[in-house]
Amino acid sequence: MKQQHLFEPDPPEWELVDRDDIWCAQLVFNRPLDTPFDYIVPEEFRPRLKPGMRVRVPFGRGDHLITGYCVGLGKPTSPHTARLKRVAALIDQHPLLTPAMLDLTRWIADRYLCGWGQVLEAVVPAGVKNRAGTRNQVVVRINPEAWPANPPPELTDKQTAVLQALSAAGRPLDLGQLARLARCGTAPITALRRRGILLAETERTEVDQSGDAPVERQADLDLNVEQQRVLHEIVQALRARICVPFLVHGVTGSGKTEVYIRAIREVVSYGRQAIVLVPEISLTPQTIRRFRSRFDSVAVLHSHQTDAERHRHWLQIAAGRVQVVVGARSAIFAPTPHLGLIVIDEEHEHSFKQDTVPRYHAREVALERARRESVPLLLGSATPTLEAWQRAQTGEFRLLTLQRRVAGLPMPPVLVVDTREDPVIRGGASIGRALKNAMQQALADQGQIILFLNLRGFSPVLWCPACGQSIKCPNCDVSVTWHREQNVARCHSCDFESPPPRSCPACQREGVRYLGTGTQRLEAEVKAKFPGVACVRMDSDSMRRPGSHDTALEAFRKGETRILLGTQMISKGLDFPNVTLVGVIDADTLLHQPDLRAGERTFQLIAQVAGRTGRSARGGRVLVQTSSPAEPPIVFASRHDYLGFVRRELAQRQQMLYPPFETLVRVIVRGPDDAVTAAAIHELATLLRTQIESRKLGARLLGPAPAPVARLNTLFRYHLQLASADLELLKQLWRTHGATFKLPPHVEIAVDVDPINLR
Ligand code: ADP
Ligand code: ZN
Repeated sequence: MKQQHLFEPDPPEWELVDRDDIWCAQLVFNRPLDTPFDYIVPEEFRPRLKPGMRVRVPFGRGDHLITGYCVGLGKPTSPHTARLKRVAALIDQHPLLTPAMLDLTRWIADRYLCGWGQVLEAVVPAGVKNRAGTRNQVVVRINPEAWPANPPPELTDKQTAVLQALSAAGRPLDLGQLARLARCGTAPITALRRRGILLAETERTEVDQSGDAPVERQADLDLNVEQQRVLHEIVQALRARICVPFLVHGVTGSGKTEVYIRAIREVVSYGRQAIVLVPEISLTPQTIRRFRSRFDSVAVLHSHQTDAERHRHWLQIAAGRVQVVVGARSAIFAPTPHLGLIVIDEEHEHSFKQDTVPRYHAREVALERARRESVPLLLGSATPTLEAWQRAQTGEFRLLTLQRRVAGLPMPPVLVVDTREDPVIRGGASIGRALKNAMQQALADQGQIILFLNLRGFSPVLWCPACGQSIKCPNCDVSVTWHREQNVARCHSCDFESPPPRSCPACQREGVRYLGTGTQRLEAEVKAKFPGVACVRMDSDSMRRPGSHDTALEAFRKGETRILLGTQMISKGLDFPNVTLVGVIDADTLLHQPDLRAGERTFQLIAQVAGRTGRSARGGRVLVQTSSPAEPPIVFASRHDYLGFVRRELAQRQQMLYPPFETLVRVIVRGPDDAVTAAAIHELATLLRTQIESRKLGARLLGPAPAPVARLNTLFRYHLQLASADLELLKQLWRTHGATFKLPPHVEIAVDVDPINLR
């Protein structure tokens, strides 16, 4: 896209100036680990340029212009001013961020070891930067000094009509509107402007003024005693206007959301705003309706919005016209003018960590923002992360507990089924005998069923019995999945597709076998076992079209479909009272991942899917199929014993010095040449290890080693991890010795502080 410059300066004059006369902008760019650069602000820009605006400036050799963010203004920060360059053009008319938000982005850059400009580039939505959905409009008004005070002679009839129309309107009018009212073309208006009788200004106005459809209002529920107790504590912190981070640990269906709503009501009564972060996939119409039915103005931010919609919301939020902002991770940057409360629901969700630069965790950013703005933070979950739990143990977070489901509903019984004993499963099916019986019974009782399986596609493994290898993507070190609908073998990492191979690419022999079960195969099995029962599959393949997610859930809510099967997409947030059975097809898929959080993930998953049933007096139960029925995460989850699980898991983490006891910084080095990439990370590791050992730093270096996915998108990947109880130490070590490390050509480096994705 071509950048539009609003103000072009005069050509630069390179006269020598006294240092005291130089006025500089401190600029950061979309690059890693930049410190701000000084640029001279030409005289004509001085009144307009403010921190938080973008400018175009020459960078490097030559006259190549790039975009920079102004983060400060003032005297040059260094005495060497001779070679300072000048700001070439201003891009924005107004700052994109307030000074407070600007400062928060600097904190993020420091905390997550990336460039300040990279953070700014990422947190301001594209639609805000390019002012999507607005247009330049010429607005015309009467110059009060010219008319009617000093009525000029010889006005034409049409010019008189224009002036009459404007004074009758009593306010400035848009050019087209004025011409219409005065029944003339634009010529008389232009003539009046030339004579100074009319003034014209360009204004930026929204194209689409329509809001969201109104939702029927609902009254607040009467809180039960547990909810009241929790709310009381939160309200005290709200009244005191202090930052208290609360961890609200409440079992699924214990009425956490209802408590958030009441806390937000308090905040709104002070004329302040609340931000509610939810995982992207929980942004269902159900959640949105729930907030819309309780508050007058709710802005919802999600990834399917157009740039124009995002921009419209951003402006409304910044103007203070929104009471509640509900959105995924990036809604933490919503420009609320008077923030009163931040809520993060489903705190344990991994989608709160961003997977690309800046690799921030919304929980940490929320905590920092809450501290700076002196507002409470509510972190809610039935299965808090060990990071949050540990902080509640040490007193950094204040723990609030909701032990029971509302209305005295019991937690659903969870039955663990050992699949090793099941002849049906040994014969290749995915729905074992016990699960099939339970499904038949649930259907006979007019109940509904949710089946959860973590793998999409038809067969997740294509395997060659001759050489014993599974078939990999040509670009990645990842097994391809067979998708029956399009009959392709697809890589779920890079989306590479090819016709399924007849013979093994490694040994050329025929007879490739299709193993394992993905959601497509499960759907086929359900249809074969329960003919005539309406069933819907929800995974990222079947839910490609916008709105298909909502349609599928709505049909299930109405009972038009009886069985809902799918991936993580259906594991949380859903509240359907008629679901009397939840089946976990294979609890082992998460358990056996090479990841320090594999146990935690398995526990969370079972606890969350179990939360989808037993939500009414009809009751409900859960069947978990596994070949490892004695694994502690599965055993604890089947007993709804979160405390038992965390106690055991924390002890293990402490012994292994894993998070939350030590902080990890993961460094990934990737490149097209295996040997060059490997040599680079070894050199880097040696350098860092020498520092740690020679200076006796309280840090460890783990690795280097090939990453678990050793090749991705044609690039070879290696990683190492720095571990320490002291994050500041790791940051310093990286800044002084890692960030300055010279990489060979074509080799890239990525740094991930508090990594969650360990692929
Ligand atoms: P959670 O967020 O802990 O899963 P919710 O707030 O969604 O729980 O509550 C679960 C269900 O119970 C919802 O349908 C909600 O409307 C209902 N509910 C919550 N609090 C009450 C209450 N005090 N009285 C009656 N129903 C309630
Ligand atoms: Zn691939």
